[in-house]
Amino acid sequence: MFHSIQGEGLYMGIPMLFVRTNRCNLRCTWCDSKYTFTGGREVPLEELLGGEVERSREQWVCFTGGGEPLLQREALEFTKRVVSMGKKVLLETSGSLPIKEFTFSPMVSIDMDIKTPSSGGEEKHFLKENLDYIRDNDYVKFVIASRGGDYDYSVGFIRSMQRSVNVVFQPAWGTDMRWLAEAVVRDALPVRLLPQFHKFIWGEARGGV
Ligand code: SF4
Repeated sequence: MFHSIQGEGLYMGIPMLFVRTNRCNLRCTWCDSKYTFTGGREVPLEELLGGEVERSREQWVCFTGGGEPLLQREALEFTKRVVSMGKKVLLETSGSLPIKEFTFSPMVSIDMDIKTPSSGGEEKHFLKENLDYIRDNDYVKFVIASRGGDYDYSVGFIRSMQRSVNVVFQPAWGTDMRWLAEAVVRDALPVRLLPQFHKFIWGEARGGV
């Protein structure tokens, strides 16, 4: 758990308290959080809420990995309790598990990170029905590492969607942003192009401030 000016996608730059969970049901080839696949320490819900969450001055809690937060047994209860404390939640998920129950309040915003082919095939685990529950305060995000596979896949995906949702294209760390910016303009895509802001500040370090 740490404090950070991170906030991905539409909420980039907002100071947030990060609550990071271990374990993931996917195995993306370029995962920078493999250390979360094992180990960790189970923290009782009351300890988590009554400790740093309650004491934090940030109005936002980013509920995220390393891994996949929706795998946590008490993920929904945690989210509801944070909202009942008057804080907003940015829930980061791969969209491979159902999100419906987490859309109970506009205080919860969902960042659904739809995997691209460079993940090593993990895009096949995406639950398409999750798109039905994306609201105006949510967004879907594509991390793009290659011109052909990832870019074409992402463009095809958004063009096949039956409805308009907020879309973020994010170049994978180390990817040249220029070609992606030029491609987005050339193809007149209804997306926002945003970098991994925290990595400009802290690089590959695990923590924040
Ligand atoms: S979903 Fe995230 S945490 Fe899980 S393997 Fe992929 S990049 Fe790593």
